[in-house]
Amino acid sequence: MFDALYLEEAGQPAALRKLPENALPDEEVTVRVHWSGLNYKDALAITGRGPVVRAWPMVPGIDFAGVVERSSSPDFTVGQQVMLNGWGVGEKHWGGLAQKASVRAAWLLPLPQGLNAQQVLALGTAGFTAMLCVQALVREGVEPGSGPVLVTGATGGVGSVAVMLLARLGYEVVAVTGRLEEQPYLQKLGASEVLARSHFEMPSRPLEKARWAGAVDVVGGQVLASVCAAMKPQGVVTACGLAGGMEFPATVAPFILRGVTLVGIDSVMCPKTVRQDMWERLALLVNKDLLAEMTRVIPLSDAITAATDLLEGKIKGRLVVEVP
Ligand code: NDP
Repeated sequence: MFDALYLEEAGQPAALRKLPENALPDEEVTVRVHWSGLNYKDALAITGRGPVVRAWPMVPGIDFAGVVERSSSPDFTVGQQVMLNGWGVGEKHWGGLAQKASVRAAWLLPLPQGLNAQQVLALGTAGFTAMLCVQALVREGVEPGSGPVLVTGATGGVGSVAVMLLARLGYEVVAVTGRLEEQPYLQKLGASEVLARSHFEMPSRPLEKARWAGAVDVVGGQVLASVCAAMKPQGVVTACGLAGGMEFPATVAPFILRGVTLVGIDSVMCPKTVRQDMWERLALLVNKDLLAEMTRVIPLSDAITAATDLLEGKIKGRLVVEVP
């Protein structure tokens, strides 16, 4: 038997259950999970508040790290430390908020050099996504000298890591948050200025004063539209989230009059070679002391309560689940 968060059917919240080992999917590699993450998507799945899960019953958990327990793949051997994020795990395939996971070998990666399993999950899908956003800004030509880079939802998982990475790379980072009382936290991560989210929640004009050379947006909705309207000529916006809404009430003005680029970020089906590269970059760039400060470790038994707190915007930084 093994412990797992279990989603019986659509619309039902998760429960902590003991499952027989033969309930696990019959995939190539079985992993004894030691660390899992609690991401926004996991919180939607656990609470049943968002249409994340696409097969039932489901074990949620879109990322995890652990040790190989059984393998029919030549790529992984028993006892090897491995990690996984994305590929629809925790959505379409049983995930990592459990003591065991059985997955395809192609979805697994060895741990990146320089990070242990806990640190990998402290970054997790959120950190990986932040790295994808930062890399997209770099690829599209935003340089530290181009001007300030905005990060929305800055106290959250993706936002916190994005602030830290951009500051580490020498960018001037402006953090946008609904929690102005967290200004000292954001400054410690490297933000040079902290702005209230409310400035971005009002309907914007098609073009506002040009201020930002780059942006990492996790909020979507009106906030994303306001960010686009205030980009400098040739500015680049990476859009990865919908914490504030799915809609996009923007005009084409920033794109056709200022040459703004909007880059979509998807961490789930990102190709394996890009994944490896991003994790290697993260391992080199991350400040491990700051990472530890932005992370709270919780036991699997607390994940259900924490999921509600996360959706209510009460969590700062990252939640890592220690699986017994
Ligand atoms: P978190 O919950 O950790 O952070 C989200 C942050 O957004 C909050 O901390 C808060 O920051 C802000 N926020 C919360 N609610 C609202 C609201 N109603 N309106 C505006 N802002 C709000 O989540 P993550 O960082 O893990 O994920 C952020 C988003 O990115 C989610 O939508 C998630 O689904 C998406 N995501 C997408 C991925 C992809 O592959 N495209 C991968 C990973 C995440 P503050 O209080 O500082 O304003």
